[in-house]
Amino acid sequence: MTDPCALLDEPPPAARDTDRPAPFRLRCERCGEETEVPDDPAESSYRCDCGAATVYGVEMPRVANVPHPEDRRFVVAKISHSKLEVDLALEREYAAGLALDLLSVTNPLAYDLVRAVTAVLAKRAVEEKR
Ligand SMILES: [Zn+2]
Repeated sequence: MTDPCALLDEPPPAARDTDRPAPFRLRCERCGEETEVPDDPAESSYRCDCGAATVYGVEMPRVANVPHPEDRRFVVAKISHSKLEVDLALEREYAAGLALDLLSVTNPLAYDLVRAVTAVLAKRAVEEKR
């Protein structure tokens, strides 16, 4: 029988190239470029040269909100994701409601601040009409 304490006295095996962790590879869903990255894409955020963001291994859509070119009552949310591109015309108050809804989930403190400021401005507007 081998003395288990004898194993502790043996020097560790020399580090070999195969002992290094394998590099991570990330393939951009938008442009198809594949690159070597330092950290696990499932635990990190990366931005490709084409501008696409991958967060926790999931491609984030590109979103740009711009005024409607013909009707100022609307804004246009331009959303592109992989090969999909869509323009959504949103009435401004509806768009603001969506933005507040996102803020209430992602940053409740900022949401409360916006709601408080909005309430003060609405009260001031009512008082100015008198
Ligand atoms: Zn890309």
